[in-house]
Amino acid sequence: MNREKIISRLKTKINDKRFEHSLGVEYTAACMAMVHGADVEKARLAGLLHDCAKGLPTKEKLEKARRHGLAISKYEEKNPDMLHAKLGAHYARYKYDVTDQEVLDAICYHTTGRPNMSLLEKIIFVADYIEPNRKMIRDMEQIRVEAFTDLDKCVVHILKNTLVYLSDTVDDMDYMTQMTYNYYVTNQGE
Ligand code: FE
Ligand code: FE
Repeated sequence: MNREKIISRLKTKINDKRFEHSLGVEYTAACMAMVHGADVEKARLAGLLHDCAKGLPTKEKLEKARRHGLAISKYEEKNPDMLHAKLGAHYARYKYDVTDQEVLDAICYHTTGRPNMSLLEKIIFVADYIEPNRKMIRDMEQIRVEAFTDLDKCVVHILKNTLVYLSDTVDDMDYMTQMTYNYYVTNQGE
């Protein structure tokens, strides 16, 4: 599917603000791919589609994930909006004809990351957090610099801030985010 077709479909699935955010992730991911030597077109595609399932009502996310046989963690069962990443990868494959596994994985893990991420996965994870439409939350200037200068450091910085924020607001810690953080804190600089 070409970009024009993807965009006209995507626009009917997510609201204007979310669509702007998706464009922001697309071009931020493209720039990061240029700096870090990743495939620019894959970065654009994954960035553009990463939130394609986010517009579904919360209940439907759970229903669709069950219907399509996706693995659902206890955390996701309690917070079905988290499923938009896995569901997004599913829709990218079956509604937007994306067959590239690297692109699908980057969409699938964009919210929590995972241990041992590919370069493209890291780029989408970071681009989602720093794209220009995002609010200037804590450490944002510094994180944006790190995104282009030290990608692993940037990933750890984002995970750390996410975990601090999560532990303040919900009693339930996202297990995968914690796993990713532990992995990158231990393996930094290798
Ligand atoms: Fe998302
Ligand atoms: Fe997003």
